[in-house]
Amino acid sequence: MMSTMVQTGALHAVTDDGPIDRDRAMTAVADLLSALGRDVASEDLADTPRRVVDGFIEMLTPRPFTMTTFANDAAYDEVVVVRDIAFASICRHHLLPFRGTATVGYLPGTRLVGLSKLARIVAFHARDLQVQEDLTAQIARTLEDELAPRGVGVVIEAEHLCMSIRGVQAAGATTATALFRGELAGDAVRQARFRPV
Ligand SMILES: [Zn+2]
Repeated sequence: MMSTMVQTGALHAVTDDGPIDRDRAMTAVADLLSALGRDVASEDLADTPRRVVDGFIEMLTPRPFTMTTFANDAAYDEVVVVRDIAFASICRHHLLPFRGTATVGYLPGTRLVGLSKLARIVAFHARDLQVQEDLTAQIARTLEDELAPRGVGVVIEAEHLCMSIRGVQAAGATTATALFRGELAGDAVRQARFRPV
């Protein structure tokens, strides 16, 4: 019989930022609209500050979850990859969304992780003011910290609205980041499993 040893660790947001002040944020959004020449007293905009603030609170509040890992009883020693995990995040430079897919995997050591947890890790770190490079590295680091695998890989492709609807207006252009650590660094054969087939 396989053993069913389960190890769990709860993942909570780690941030140096202060608590969210919803009332102050709504006043600030109203001030912003007013400073942009909009009539915040109009019926059309009356509820906009509340909607904007509640939207940002939702998008910037990661959902804690429990990492569940299992003993690798069968000594599976090839990569485990979950491809095309859809995510959306907020660019910290422009406060505009970027969205795309993350492909996340690892080369197991003595433990395995529930597959849905790989998607949870992506969603957890996406709910922040982000840049794609940091998001990629944070996902990799969390997997390393929680699972101690022999290697990790994270590939992200995303469209940034700050690039597609303003500035250079390169609609449809995607930005790709890829990070391979541990035994997956420099292993082109296994890295290929993180790319589309
Ligand atoms: Zn941006």
